[in-house]
Amino acid sequence: MVQRILPNIFRIPVRLKGNPLKILNSYVVKTTDRNLLIDTGFNQDESFEDLKKGIEELDLDMDKTDIFLTHFHSDHTGLVPRIAGTSSKKYMGAADIELFEAQNSDRDGYWGKVKDAFLSRAYPEDEYRAAVDRNPARHLVSPVRFDCIPVHDNEVLRIGDMEFVCIHTPGHTPGHFCLYNKKNKLIFLGDQLLFDITPNISVRPRPGNALKEYLESLQKLKNYDVAIPLTAHRENNGNYYARIDELIQHHDIRLQELIDIIKTNPGINGYQAAAKMEWSIRAKSWDDFPPGQKWFAVAEALAHVDYLIYMGKVSVENNNGIEQYSIAGGGV
Ligand SMILES: [Zn+2]
Repeated sequence: MVQRILPNIFRIPVRLKGNPLKILNSYVVKTTDRNLLIDTGFNQDESFEDLKKGIEELDLDMDKTDIFLTHFHSDHTGLVPRIAGTSSKKYMGAADIELFEAQNSDRDGYWGKVKDAFLSRAYPEDEYRAAVDRNPARHLVSPVRFDCIPVHDNEVLRIGDMEFVCIHTPGHTPGHFCLYNKKNKLIFLGDQLLFDITPNISVRPRPGNALKEYLESLQKLKNYDVAIPLTAHRENNGNYYARIDELIQHHDIRLQELIDIIKTNPGINGYQAAAKMEWSIRAKSWDDFPPGQKWFAVAEALAHVDYLIYMGKVSVENNNGIEQYSIAGGGV
């Protein structure tokens, strides 16, 4: 069922079957001239059905509709080739276009670098394989390559009589973008800010620092006058500024939790540290985590560890290819 947000802005809820995120919010900007569709859903029949129904309900001519992708993840980009019109332009952040290509073609040994980042933090190789091979998102990507026009920070997109500023908000991915419409104080947030779940922040091969970027992006978003915050998943009725502060605080608490773990376990590795953190999932113990969930948990923990290293709070020692962490300066 399409939800009308403003007379010319709509939300199409799109099912993400088999994924804990449940729903992707695809948004439509409809003008008499051209339209814009923001994010699409998985390359999966359930997502396709919902999006197609929404497009029909809105009587959207896809040949007059361009597509903006907030980031490259398959729940946002999976359906592009199936729904795009022949003249639809596709927009995405430059860094995510690069990464999308690298992941799909394993360019520059992409997957080898990711594997190194996990194995050097003591992630067991068999568990790594189980997580990566069974990662459903890898099978839900668009099977067809498509070209995107790169967008840059502060660039203005004009859709009919509406103007949107592209805001680069790296963190969830390096080339993540939000779209801001000043006139209506409206922002399409992608996965940068969600109200009922915390966006996943995963470790990147160094020198990437996902959490540093993410926290900076949250600060950046405080500078915009926003009354209508439109998230890419689930509900979108919440207090924008309060949620920004809550997310910053959430990560502060996680960082402190890790400091405490490292303090009481000097020389601990990344996998062990992740296992000692609190996780809100329905598994009895760390060993019972499904492989995919464990992968996300460790990726999230490691993003926090890398931030603490960057802040000079944690020191690293390399022991036979495995990183071990202690509180910097031997302090307590
Ligand atoms: Zn998403």
